Amino acid sequence: MADDFFNISPDVLKKAEIAQTECAGMFRTIEETGEYNQRKVLRAFIDNKVSEADFSSSTGYGYGDRGREKLDKIFASVFGAQDAIVRHSFTCGTHTLAVALYGVLRPGDTMLCVTGMPYDTIRPVIGITGEGMGSLRDFGINFECIDLTEDGRVNMPAVKKALSSKPAMVYIQRSRGYSLRPSLSVSEIGDIVSLVKSRCDAVVMVDNCYGEFVEKTEPTQVGADLMAGSLIKNAGGGIARTGGYIAGRADLVEKCAYRATTPGLGREVGCTLGENINMFMGVFNAPGVVVSALKTAVFAARLFELMGYGVSPASDEMRHDIIQAICLENPERLVKFCRGIQSGSPIDSFVTPEPWDMPGYNNKVIMAAGAFILGASIELSADAPLREPFAVWMQGGLNYTCGKTAVMLAAGEVGDNER
Ligand SMILES: *Cc1c(COP(=O)(O)O)cnc(C)c1O
Repeated sequence: MADDFFNISPDVLKKAEIAQTECAGMFRTIEETGEYNQRKVLRAFIDNKVSEADFSSSTGYGYGDRGREKLDKIFASVFGAQDAIVRHSFTCGTHTLAVALYGVLRPGDTMLCVTGMPYDTIRPVIGITGEGMGSLRDFGINFECIDLTEDGRVNMPAVKKALSSKPAMVYIQRSRGYSLRPSLSVSEIGDIVSLVKSRCDAVVMVDNCYGEFVEKTEPTQVGADLMAGSLIKNAGGGIARTGGYIAGRADLVEKCAYRATTPGLGREVGCTLGENINMFMGVFNAPGVVVSALKTAVFAARLFELMGYGVSPASDEMRHDIIQAICLENPERLVKFCRGIQSGSPIDSFVTPEPWDMPGYNNKVIMAAGAFILGASIELSADAPLREPFAVWMQGGLNYTCGKTAVMLAAGEVGDNER
């Protein structure tokens, strides 16, 4: 087992070989889902008659940009939604989610989150943290939150009870984000939708970040009214340079369009500045890139299990997002892990990540991000706050070979867990 390009120790190479062999069954499942999703995307391109002319650039108001309109239709078809709005001008996932929230909610409405406290960057949007920034709360929109159960599941009896106060929106976060709760399956999301629809007419909205193409169906196919995500995560396939999408019921997407630009103008404006081709190619590549990211995550899970560490999800667990948490148990190992991942990245491999005081966090955070696109977490990346339980969250990987290599380098840095 010689390795010509990286100085990986025989011990790590041997464990990696075992890990990969043991992952074969899970890899087959992931690839089968990937194949289904890839054919679905190809079908959408063919049905929507995508042509070279759709890649032409528009400027100024961007009136009549045919490519922009077709891209919206592609996302709608792929996600089994009535409609979608896909724009490079959505600056990130948080912005896209915020546009959807402000687009749909009105003063006096209540937004009921059923998956515990939402992802960090959404909190100032709602008005849970921060002040004077024009949060939903500043506009008279109420927020209620139902904590997850002790084992990280949605507390259905509590949700049922809360629905009696007729919230305008029920909000679901599919991915674990940077917590140790399990991610939600599309089928579990379907169960929540059924419960909500049997009790009231709330809009069910899903934060779908990190979830796209992990399963054969998406939340909009099990009754979610609206969902949103980032194009520098799964749905942009590692090619989109920035942007986001909102998909769902046509009347709601229309409202989001009025928020994205202005009432009156909606989706009639929005030049594409040559970005269409990147977003078309991105969604075309997304199912395959998600396969690579999932295989990288499963391989990392098995390798670190063999090395004696706790991982979540386990290597043989079904996945509903691309995130892998590894409990490294002390801060030194978090630093080593991130340095190992960084050293195996195509970009900035020579940079040494250091823990830093990231705004909004109480602890120092260390990150590995050797990506082509700044901050793209569909590319292999890792983040770890230096606090209990000293876990690192890794995600992404544009191709499995490079993902596996970086994970092996991280394993070499960290070493086995000798108990
Ligand atoms: C990434 C992410 C977001 C949005 O984050 P951005 O960094 O703004 O793209 C929102 N929710 C979840 C669960 C996420 O993983």
